[in-house]
Amino acid sequence: MASIDLAGTELGDTLDHLTQYNDPDLNLLVTAIRRLATRELTLTETQTLGVALAGDIDSMDATGAIGLLHAHLHNPTTNPALTRLPFDQQDTAAQYGKATAHALTDSQLRNTASLACASLAHSGQCSNCGAWFENWPGGICDACRNR
Ligand SMILES: [Zn+2]
Repeated sequence: MASIDLAGTELGDTLDHLTQYNDPDLNLLVTAIRRLATRELTLTETQTLGVALAGDIDSMDATGAIGLLHAHLHNPTTNPALTRLPFDQQDTAAQYGKATAHALTDSQLRNTASLACASLAHSGQCSNCGAWFENWPGGICDACRNR
């Protein structure tokens, strides 16, 4: 299979933009996103990554982690660089950092990501006996139905 080229795409442009900050750890994140975007994935891997990136119902996903990191970096108790600022400026930074974390951990943000992941379902669970079947949308399995 031909490798996937991100050049000229919105994702590719965003990743290229992020490399302009020249931060080695940010570049690791860019590399990880680029690899995830261009790697050949199975349906199951795609579903799992969809949840891990932005579809976890408890917001314990990469999007939530970035929001929480933003709050962490803008809090003077977790980032000593901020303690050089006047107290009111530290408070303002911490409040906006928390607001960013709140926005990026909002469960509403997960609705479309969860639906996207669910739309890839290629196995289903019987709501009666709990058995999983490949290529079945779910419901009540034949064995339970014929009892
Ligand atoms: Zn069943």
